[in-house]
Amino acid sequence: MVITLVLAPAVVVIPPHVPWALGVLATGFVLARRRWTHRFTLEDLEATCPRCGARLEAVPGRLRMPQPVTCSACGHDASIEIDAEALEAGAA
Ligand SMILES: [Zn+2]
Repeated sequence: MVITLVLAPAVVVIPPHVPWALGVLATGFVLARRRWTHRFTLEDLEATCPRCGARLEAVPGRLRMPQPVTCSACGHDASIEIDAEALEAGAA
């Protein structure tokens, strides 16, 4: 957010001025909010596709509730739901 507060005055000189500054500020707000609400990180996943039985692979990153996972073998879109209370208890 601080970086975008520094960038906003710099990009405001580029016509059409206001949309650039608002865009930079909005981007900073969205990125700051994402970082603020990021609680858990998905590092690895061991699961099988309910349709074809192939191993499901997830991209490491922010853990979402539910976590969407697409089977690379059949293209089935699945989601993994994790008990938030169990995660909180495990983190403590
Ligand atoms: Zn599959």
